Amino acid sequence: MFNISRLNKYIIIIIFLSFSLSACRREEVSETKILFNTYCSITVWASQRGGEEAIRSAFERMGEVESKFNIHSETSPLYRFNREGGDIEDDEIANVVKEALEIAGKSKGAFDPSVYPLLEVWGIYGEGSGIPEEKQIEKALKKVGYDNISIENGRVYSAVEGLGIDLGGIAKGYAVDEGIKELKRAGIDSALIDAGGDIYALGSKNGREWRIGLQNPRGEGNMSVFKVSDRAVVTSGDYHRYFEEGGDRYHHIIDPQTGYPSEEVVSATVIGPKAMTADGWATAVMVMGVREGLEAIKEMEEYEVFMITSEGEAVSSQGLDKYVADMNLDLLHKLDE
Ligand code: AMP
Ligand code: MG
Repeated sequence: MFNISRLNKYIIIIIFLSFSLSACRREEVSETKILFNTYCSITVWASQRGGEEAIRSAFERMGEVESKFNIHSETSPLYRFNREGGDIEDDEIANVVKEALEIAGKSKGAFDPSVYPLLEVWGIYGEGSGIPEEKQIEKALKKVGYDNISIENGRVYSAVEGLGIDLGGIAKGYAVDEGIKELKRAGIDSALIDAGGDIYALGSKNGREWRIGLQNPRGEGNMSVFKVSDRAVVTSGDYHRYFEEGGDRYHHIIDPQTGYPSEEVVSATVIGPKAMTADGWATAVMVMGVREGLEAIKEMEEYEVFMITSEGEAVSSQGLDKYVADMNLDLLHKLDE
């Protein structure tokens, strides 16, 4: 009969336990890819194998969102819509358009998904071809108006010829939300997705809130550090895509009222529960400016905003304090110089 002494039994149990512990020991697993024309990184705290698999499925899902919302890709329903009109029959696009229209309404058109013709004349889709002629801007402005976009039973359409939809101000946030959903589905409870400034921090990192640095919009270093858990931190800025002419900066966020790039705010960070909503509002606040931006975010329950103005001032909504781990005011003064 097979007989193990008591000591041997203990040794076997200890070896077994340490094997199973090491198999599910949590460590930081991270991967970076290029998505939405920018670096996108996913970090999870999990077992090595489980973490890698979860990251793979999150990237796969985010890649699907990227292709579907890429207005330059022939396979995107938006590509065809922007060239030929007609309908978009896609529940997912309809949902994002619905959110975009809601933000458009609340921001009084500062955020406008029909800004496409303006982005075209400003060369935002190419290399940034220089300042367009006044006439071109006026012509494009006539085609802009989110009121002309309709949604009915998951169908997006417009009665206005020449209307184009660009969801670039909100789709990345949506992709981050979808990536997080995929990670949760894989059993992950601690993760950070950063898609070029569109961030979501899931759970905590070793029992502490995640720390998220906000890049100095005019140079090196972090302007501030936020501490968050289960929150999106999304930043829009005039330093992501721009060209300079005559000493002025022309960037990729266009004020649909003037037809020119927004001014006053150089960086807007929105913190809240959903990355898609935070993304749309960060773009909206860039256009709205300090006063109107603060007013609008006050109405958004659970959302806070932090702005840096072209004068080098830091402005924040009342509830932002709880997220601030560090604020580098010295850098703000330098920005002003
Ligand atoms: P974000 O980096 O989220 O602020 O998004 C910037 C992108 O949003 C631009 O590259 C355009 O595709 C799009 N966009 C620019 N201006 C506006 C606007 N006023 N409303 C909505 N989307 C805009
Ligand atoms: Mg945005």
